[in-house]
Amino acid sequence: MSHTRRDFIKYVVAGSVATGCPIDSTLLAAPDSAAPTPVMHGEHFEVCHQIRDGHIFERPAATRNAGVVIIGGGVAGLSAGYFLGGKHDWLLLEKEDHFGGNAYQEEYEGQPFATGSAYAYKGDAGDQLAAELGLKLLLVNNPDPTIVNGAFVPDTWKTGLDHLPYPKEVIAGFKKFRDDIMKLDLKSQAMELDAQPFTNFTAAYAKEIAQWWDAYGPSNWGATTEDTSAYVAVEALQGLVKGEDDTRAILPGGLGCITHRLVEVLLPKYKDRMLGEATVVAVVPEADAVNVTYFHGGQLITVSAKAVIMCVPKLIASRLITALPTEQKAAMRRTRYAPYPVVNVIFDKPVYNRGYDNWCPGNTFTDFIVADWTVRNAPGYKQKNNILSFYTPLREYQRSLLLQEASCKALAANVLADFQKLLPEFNVSPVEVRIYRRGHPMFIAAPGQFTKNRLLAAQPLERIYFGNADSSGPESLTSESVRLSRVAAEWSELVLAGKSGAKDLASKALQAAGA
Ligand SMILES: Cc1cc2nc3c(=O)[nH]c(=O)nc-3n(C[C@H](O)[C@H](O)[C@H](O)COP(=O)(O)OP(=O)(O)OC[C@H]3O[C@@H](n4cnc5c(N)ncnc54)[C@H](O)[C@@H]3O)c2cc1C
Repeated sequence: MSHTRRDFIKYVVAGSVATGCPIDSTLLAAPDSAAPTPVMHGEHFEVCHQIRDGHIFERPAATRNAGVVIIGGGVAGLSAGYFLGGKHDWLLLEKEDHFGGNAYQEEYEGQPFATGSAYAYKGDAGDQLAAELGLKLLLVNNPDPTIVNGAFVPDTWKTGLDHLPYPKEVIAGFKKFRDDIMKLDLKSQAMELDAQPFTNFTAAYAKEIAQWWDAYGPSNWGATTEDTSAYVAVEALQGLVKGEDDTRAILPGGLGCITHRLVEVLLPKYKDRMLGEATVVAVVPEADAVNVTYFHGGQLITVSAKAVIMCVPKLIASRLITALPTEQKAAMRRTRYAPYPVVNVIFDKPVYNRGYDNWCPGNTFTDFIVADWTVRNAPGYKQKNNILSFYTPLREYQRSLLLQEASCKALAANVLADFQKLLPEFNVSPVEVRIYRRGHPMFIAAPGQFTKNRLLAAQPLERIYFGNADSSGPESLTSESVRLSRVAAEWSELVLAGKSGAKDLASKALQAAGA
């Protein structure tokens, strides 16, 4: 397909979505003739969309009891089950036919790759859990390169700045911007920084700086510069300049390697307590229990629980729980989410192995990672296929693109086309292209979300604890889901034993985010 045609298609898709018009799918389904038709995977949204649209499902009387019901089987829900272990007769309900949520791996010819969450940091709660499970996450050991204007620039924010393919004055602007950001004191200025958009800091500099952050932000926290809390972006840049990215660690499969292992450990012991294809439709607090109704095997079933750990995002939680304080419900609804597909492109020969997480401002995707980066040089390892995962966050107004198979496939084809024109050596046809779609996977680190909104949204109720990455921050982090689930297990102990202190424990855990 010619660039002109591809650009035209991009224009038509963007225009149709913006105006709410249906998309002409015959126009979209025209990928490069040599490339395979993209294969689509992703979440199921039918029941949740009915709930969103106000449908009230029947709530039959409880026919089952549980100590703790865990709602959502992403990394938060799975690790809550792991930390509860043999105690409290827990029941985990997950709407998909697999567990893992946003940290879910797929495989191609036995080679795992990420469909979402990519890496942890050495020593964080995710890495600690991985170690407990017998997984040794390996260091990435490669500061992020940028590929822009036909140039590959290693170590962007340190030695790379001098090599960016921009005029001298733009490079000088990048350096001044970096130096100015390094002068800010995150601790003492946290509230002030979190209250304002990052554009307040980028506006005075060359547009190429905001363009770089308009790739980095959406990929890491779902927002372009104008919607980003300055706190989040300042923390990120200071981390890059201090070399904190040197502590990133991972195995093939991204952080899906942890959920994969959790399932391997939990299922043999607790098969009856872990239900897939079980979509919760109502959570009703009663005097001394909580009734949870879910749709499973074509039936609505209610379980009566002594405590509930909600591991679904707040946009869903706010629609499931029947009695929420008004202010809390409003805070949950204020939380914003980015639509975020991930496209995996599989080559049967080496095409790219120069950098782990490669930033590509100005393309359909923001960055791409090499799936087996941390094991590629391990003794005895031979890269069979070169699998590249392309992060393709969308803007909120583009979410409806994901509802149609044709537009998802067109998006995947555009990702491949943009990659193929980045550098001359990338003009190679893959053996498979896959797109994994998710409508609301990543909460947006907008101004006020970290220091204000989430603290209101995630306050525990008497018998309901709010886990999920969106209870924490400053951005959506797998490690934070794990940390909060460890606390959730302790919280459940207190609630089930009728002891005091559960609310305090949960509130302290919320305050400790980002510490
Ligand atoms: C593309 C992408 C890249 C990312 N990269 C990184 C990274 O590199 N490092 C990092 O630390 N973090 C990263 N993140 C963030 C990370 O993935 C999340 O913070 C983490 O996986 C969230 O886990 P969770 O269990 O809290 O929530 P989720 O993963 O959202 O799990 C919620 C689960 O609830 C289920 N569910 C929803 N509704 C219902 C219902 N009604 N009934 C039953 N079940 C329901 C869902 O199917 C899902 O399985 C990334 C996220 C995305 C989307």
